[in-house]
Amino acid sequence: YFVYQFYGEKPHFGGPKVTYVPPPPPDDEQAIFARYQTGTNFDKYDEVVVDVSGLDPPAPLLGFEEANLCEPLNRNIAKAGYSKLTPVQKYSIPIIMAGRDLMACAQTGSGKTAAFLVPVVAQMMRDGVTASSFKEQQEPQCIIVGPTRELINQIFLEARKFVYGTCIRPVVIYGGTQTGYSIRQVMRGCNILCATPGRLLDIIGKEKIGLQSVKYLVLDEADRMLDMGFGLDMKKLVSYPSMPPKDKRQTLMFSATFPEEVQRLAAEFLKTDYLFVVVGHVGGACSDVQQTILQVSQYSKRDKLIEILQSIGHERTIVFVDTKKKADFMAAFFCQEKIPSTSIHGDREQRERERALQDFRCGGCPVLVATTVAARGLDIEKVQHVINFDLPSTIEEYVHRIGRTGRCGNTGKAVSFFDNRTDGRLARPLVKVLSDAQQEVPVWLEEITFGFQTDSIFAPVKNDKK
Ligand code: AMP
Repeated sequence: YFVYQFYGEKPHFGGPKVTYVPPPPPDDEQAIFARYQTGTNFDKYDEVVVDVSGLDPPAPLLGFEEANLCEPLNRNIAKAGYSKLTPVQKYSIPIIMAGRDLMACAQTGSGKTAAFLVPVVAQMMRDGVTASSFKEQQEPQCIIVGPTRELINQIFLEARKFVYGTCIRPVVIYGGTQTGYSIRQVMRGCNILCATPGRLLDIIGKEKIGLQSVKYLVLDEADRMLDMGFGLDMKKLVSYPSMPPKDKRQTLMFSATFPEEVQRLAAEFLKTDYLFVVVGHVGGACSDVQQTILQVSQYSKRDKLIEILQSIGHERTIVFVDTKKKADFMAAFFCQEKIPSTSIHGDREQRERERALQDFRCGGCPVLVATTVAARGLDIEKVQHVINFDLPSTIEEYVHRIGRTGRCGNTGKAVSFFDNRTDGRLARPLVKVLSDAQQEVPVWLEEITFGFQTDSIFAPVKNDKK
C-alpha cells in the first residue's frame, strides 16, 4: 500500500466497483492527426551530441525517406506533420528496424514516442500483421507500458496516427476504468497494447491476453517502470511462461532519465548486445526551458506563488505540489482568487482526472495543480510555465516535471521554490542539472551544496504523499 501511496496511483483493493467508461476518442481524420507547431528551437536539436554504445550499431538516418517505410506509414507521418527526424528518432529507428534491443535516453519533449512507434509499426506492416476479433484470446505483437493512465492514453493516441488506414489495431487499457470495458476493447482485436502495469497484469490473469506473439516490449519512462514502484510488475510480466524470452523478442526502453542503478536493472531485461543511445547527457534537462530557483521559506510560498501567477496572466501553467490534499486545496484557493484552476492527483476519480486534463488542455482552466502523476510524459500544447511550489525528492522527477514545458522546440519557463529546511539534499544535483543545461546557478545554491556532501540523489528527502 505504501508503495502505491508514495508514487501516487490509487490502489483499488475491494471498495466500490469502478464503472467509469471513458468517452471514445474522436475518430475523424482531422482529430486523429491534430498536432501543435514545432518551435523555433526544433532545428537546434540537431546540434546535440549523440553517443551510441554497444557493438556494431547501424548508421543513423538522415531523413524519414531513408528509412524505406511502406507507403501508408509514410502518408501517416506526413499527415502527422513530421517532416524532419529528431535525433532520438534518427538513431532509434534504424536500431529497432535492425532487430536490436535498445535503451534510449533523450531530453523531454524531443520525440521519443515516435522513435519507437514508427519502427514497430513499420515492422508490423512488413510482417503483414492484421487485427482479428474472432479469437478467445488476443495475442498482441507489441506491448507498451507506461507509468500513468494519462500518459499511456497519450501514447495510444499517437499510435492511432501511425496505423491509420492499416489493419493494425492499437488498444489502450488502464486502471480507474471499468475492467469489462478494457476487456471488450482488447477482444475487438489487438496488435499494439498500450497499458498501465496493474490493468495489464489483471487482464492477462483473466486470460484475455496471450503473450506468445509478443515481438516488441516497450517500456516508456523505463527508469520509472523498473524502480521500486513498478519493477516487480515488470519482472512478473517478463516471467510469464508464455512471454517470449528476451532473445526472442525486442525490448525497447525510453526515458529522459536513467540513474545508473536502474540501468543495471534494465540490462536484465535486454539482450546482451543491446545498444544504448544517449542524446545529450543522461538525465539532462531540456535546454529550451529557462530554469529559475528561488529561495522561499514554507511560510512565504503561497504569497510568492500568487504574485507569480498574477504576473503570468492567462498563460498555461502547471503547479507541482507534494500532496494530494494540497493540490485540491490550492486549486480551490486559486479559483477564489479568480484564477481558474483545476487539479490532478492519484486520489481523484479517473473521470475527474480526465476532465481536469481536458479543462487544462482546452485553456478553460489555465492553471493545473498537480502531484507527481503529471510529472512524466504529458505533452500538452502551450504549457508555458512549470512552478515547483514544492520541489520533488529526486532530481529525475525535477527534470521530468520541468519537461512539461519547452517541448518540440518550443521554449518554456520553470520556477522552483527552494526551502533550505527541506530541499538541501537536492542542491548538489540541481546545480549539476542547471549548469549542464547552461542555466544560471544561484550563488546561494552553490553554497548550500558545501553543507551537503552526500552524493546520493535518489534517497527520498521527504515522505511525499502524492
Ligand atoms: P514526445 O517527446 O514523443 O512526447 O514528442 C513531443 C512532441 O513532439 C509531440 O507533440 C510530438 O507529436 C512531436 N514530434 C515528435 N517527433 C516529431 C517530428 N519528427 N516532427 C515534428 N513533431 C514531432
